[in-house]
This record gives sequence, structure tokens and C-alpha cells, in this order.
Amino acid sequence: MISVVVPLYNEEENLHELYRRLKSSLSGTGLDYEIILVDDGARDGTPSRIDELADRDRRVVALHLSRNFGHQAAVSAGLDHARGGGVVVIDGDLQDPPELIPAMIDKWRQGHEVVYAVRRRREEAWPKRLGYFAFYRILSAISDMDIPLDSGDFCLMDRKVVDVLVHLPERMRFIRGLRSFVGFDQVGLEYDRPARGAGTPKYTLGRLIALAIDGLISFSGRPLRLATYLGLAAVGVATGLSIWIFHDALAHGKSPAGWASGAVIVLFMGSVQLLSLGIIGEYIRLIFLEVKRRPTYILRDRPSRAEADREADRP
Ligand code: UDP
Ligand code: MG
Repeated sequence: MISVVVPLYNEEENLHELYRRLKSSLSGTGLDYEIILVDDGARDGTPSRIDELADRDRRVVALHLSRNFGHQAAVSAGLDHARGGGVVVIDGDLQDPPELIPAMIDKWRQGHEVVYAVRRRREEAWPKRLGYFAFYRILSAISDMDIPLDSGDFCLMDRKVVDVLVHLPERMRFIRGLRSFVGFDQVGLEYDRPARGAGTPKYTLGRLIALAIDGLISFSGRPLRLATYLGLAAVGVATGLSIWIFHDALAHGKSPAGWASGAVIVLFMGSVQLLSLGIIGEYIRLIFLEVKRRPTYILRDRPSRAEADREADRP
């Protein structure tokens, strides 16, 4: 069976179109499937439409989170409840074309355990494209492992991989990073990423930047190293300057006016310290979030069908 996990936050305009296209591309594969619609605390008609679909179609599972926990948490909730031998993660805004799923399934049948979609082209405004371009390159340059460029969360994962992901201890889940971390036989599949269907992006610029920083921090210790290097460089510069100043004072005996150089030194040292503190702070924030051991997400109620089926599965 194939499970399809869809995180949804205020996507009422896209939901029916999504459902229709998912159904038609899934039924062509000849595999049994379930569609797990995760309502990430949506404030529009999404929750009730999800329930309608689940009532009408027994292959649809509705999960409601108790509030908006964010995209990554919503995907985690879906993964936790997926029961398929293969699990597809797909955005609910039609930017990940459901028509790619059969090709993913083919690759999976050939024995690949993770099939991730790689965007060849994006139909989005250039500042956003530039941001994504830079982010993936920085991430892959500084992270301690191979994270494929330009691949988001859209992917198909084998049950083996999902089982490992679901049991990873960390609460802060940057899924595309964890997916690379776990290894297995991974393969990319290229596609052109369309603009989103209806509605506005649910990630604001601020949230995108936050996600980017979380991704960088949780998959690399290099920024800490950078802080150390910056500190070392600053010490070097300060030492050189001190020698020069002392030499100047002793040799010529006149006290220089020196306001400009003094100000530059203070500003330079101040900014190096602030930057380093900020970097260290980011790590402390993540450590803080992890040690609290709060759940990644909270369900509003027990998932109706999935839970009932699970009861029935028990011997
Ligand atoms: N999403 C979510 N919770 C959020 C924000 C977004 O579940 O807090 C969902 C959203 O409904 C969509 C997917 O995550 O299905 C991707 O969101 P969006 O299109 O805004 O992100 P972008 O494509 O701009 O990265
Ligand atoms: Mg989108």
C-alpha cells in the first residue's frame, strides 16, 4: 500500500483539485493507497472539507492538529500515522504535481528506498528563487553530510526509511535533512515546479528564514566553528594593532588623536562578538527546544479511521 501525506494549512481552494488529481494518478498505479490529510490548525474551511472527504472516501484519513504547528510538524504527524509500504510526502498547494507519483513508484519498484523530487525550474518571483538557490548551496556546503540540492520535502520513502525517521529522537524536524541523514538507497527525480494553485504562500518570509536557519543549525556545527575563526581573526587583528599603537606611542612619544581607529576597533570587536553570540544562541535555542521534550505536534482527537483499523489489526 502507498500512503500519501499532505500537510494543509488554509488550503480550502486547493483541496478538491488536489484530491481529484491524487486519486487519478494513484488509481493508475494499481496499488492500494491511503491519503492522509493533515490539518495543521487551519482557520478556513480546510478542516471541515477534510472531514467530508474522509466520510465519503474510506481511503482518506483526516488528522487534525490542535493548533498550527508548522509544515514540518504536520508532515511528521502524517508520517507517524502512515501505514503504507511506501509513503509519499507532498505539499497541498499543487506545487508538487501529483502526476509525478507514478514515476516515483516506478523508481521505488526498481529498488530505490528514497525517491526525492528535484526541481529543475521554479515558477516563482526571482527574490524567492534566489533565496532558495543560496540556501541549498550554503546548506550543502556547510552541512556534515550530502543533502541534495533543490529538493524539498516532496518524495517517496520506503517503509524501512519511514520507520527510522519516525523513531528518531529529535523533536525539531527538518525533514529533508533527516531524510538525507538516514541514508539508504536514494535517487532524485527531476520536475518543473509550478507556481502554487490558489491562495497565498503559508510560509511568510520570516518563517522561511527561520526554517533555513533551523536547517543550517541542526545539520551543521560549522557556524560555531565560524564563530571561533572570527574570534581568532579578531584577536589577531587586535594584537597587531596593539603592537603598532604601542610602538607608535613609544617611538614618537606623542599621543595620537586616534578617534577613528578607536571607533573602528570598538565597532569591529563589538560586531564579531555579537555575531558569535548570535550563532551560539541559535544552538542553545535548539538544545533548549530539544531538552524540553515537548511533542512535535498534538492531535485534536484520535484519528478516526486509522485508529479503528489499527484496533482491528490487533490479533
Ligand atoms: N503548511 C502547513 N503548515 C504551515 C505552513 C504551511 O501545513 O504552517 C503547508 C501548506 O498548506 C502547504 C505546504 O505546507 O501544503 C507548503 O506550504 P507553502 O506552499 O506555503 O510553502 P512554500 O511552497 O512557499 O515553501
Ligand atoms: Mg507552496
